[in-house]
Amino acid sequence: MHSHWLPCLHRTGLLPEHLPHQRALCPLHPFHAAERPVAAPADGNEAACPNCYCFACDAPVSECRHWRGGEPKAPAHCNAHAGSAEWRTQRSNAKRQRTRAARAARDPLGLG
Ligand SMILES: [Zn+2]
Ligand SMILES: [Zn+2]
Repeated sequence: MHSHWLPCLHRTGLLPEHLPHQRALCPLHPFHAAERPVAAPADGNEAACPNCYCFACDAPVSECRHWRGGEPKAPAHCNAHAGSAEWRTQRSNAKRQRTRAARAARDPLGLG
């Protein structure tokens, strides 16, 4: 008797592009890593899939306000990647700002 039982290899149907990932690691869109933050998207870096995260904001691309740059002092976040010291600095600065904002929201009078 031959049975056509197959192991459930595709049980979850989860592919890399279905999991949140940094834009630089996107399996769908090639990333061009530049050492320094620049004002405009480099070589198609602005392309993102629904699960791409902004490395600088640590948030989904849809929540990043500087993805394509456009502001004088904000580099385009779509170029951000962990391999650049300057971007890692940007990321920790953004994190500190978020912490401060969250604290202010919880404790607007600064009593706590
Ligand atoms: Zn992606
Ligand atoms: Zn961002």
